[in-house]
Amino acid sequence: MRKALGAVLACALLLGGCAAPAPEAHSSTLLAMDTVMEFTAYGERGGESVEAAKDTVRELEALLSVTGEGSEIYRANHGEAVKLSPMTADLLGEAMEACASTGGALDVTVYPVVRAWGFTTGNYQVPDQQTLSALLEQVDYTQVQVENAVLDLPEGVELDLGAAAKGYAGDRLMDLFRGYGVTSAMVTLGGNVQVLGAKPDGSAWRVAVQDPAGDGYAGVVRVTDKAVVTSGGYQRYFEKDGVRYSHIIDPATGYPAASGLTSVTIVCGSGVWADCLSTALFVMGKEKAAGYWRAQNGWLEGGFDFILLGEDGTVTITQGLEDSFSLYGDWSDHTLEVVRP
Ligand code: AMP
Ligand code: MG
Repeated sequence: MRKALGAVLACALLLGGCAAPAPEAHSSTLLAMDTVMEFTAYGERGGESVEAAKDTVRELEALLSVTGEGSEIYRANHGEAVKLSPMTADLLGEAMEACASTGGALDVTVYPVVRAWGFTTGNYQVPDQQTLSALLEQVDYTQVQVENAVLDLPEGVELDLGAAAKGYAGDRLMDLFRGYGVTSAMVTLGGNVQVLGAKPDGSAWRVAVQDPAGDGYAGVVRVTDKAVVTSGGYQRYFEKDGVRYSHIIDPATGYPAASGLTSVTIVCGSGVWADCLSTALFVMGKEKAAGYWRAQNGWLEGGFDFILLGEDGTVTITQGLEDSFSLYGDWSDHTLEVVRP
């Protein structure tokens, strides 16, 4: 009798196991683009796909690095007319559209100003007004022209795709995973998260929005097939004489954006647009960001949503996230505003 019961139990366990075999998780990490990256893909070819993902990121870094001698961007910034590879041309095309659409809040030619503040080298300094004014004369994305895939920058104009590159990498990785037959995957590229499909059990991925002032979370958003990209002053900054200077520059002033926000998270089907918009809307601030969302949504395929954290502790989300975003822990009692069309 005891034996029989044992057999029944074993059978039940086996049946349970056979009905829904959990697909195996394959994970890998990589330090690239100044960022700790983590890739996880589920299923049979998950292992192969995460290895290939690392190659794709390394390839993109070699094409796009502003400091890596020999990259297409480095060569273009140093006076060469460069025949762009398909990926660089594609990314630059998307980023240029985003520069125009955001009225220059995103500007891929802001690099000389970013460098003057020391954000590329770590030799931080506050440039004087004269230096900034002179550099700003050359900040103008409309001066970037690509003809027959050849990028030939005017004297003094320099390009930095750092505000969009990780988002673009996310898109390429989702394509790559699909090519391996993977249906469930997640990549974390610093403040950029992008997910393919749902979790293996069919539920949505839960992506946290970091508390800009600490190690915890301000909120959690549930997504499938989306990029969730955060730009924040807290991600890179220096302090001098009690003032904090952060790495996101307002191209209109040459100074770190002081728009009253501590972070901007964009939720969008496109990684590259999520990345461009997280930077641009951080520059814009709450009112302009809401106006941009109202005007642009529907124009960008699938639209986008945002989560803004204000210096006053207010959290502002767009209507599309009402059912999928929740405040978290200590943040649960913060004011949550919803922007509607
Ligand atoms: P992200 O982390 O995506 O917001 O990108 C920020 C990085 O993009 C900075 O570290 C700069 O290298 C560069 N950057 C800063 N401000 C801007 C801007 N207004 N437009 C384009 N790139 C920028
Ligand atoms: Mg960005």
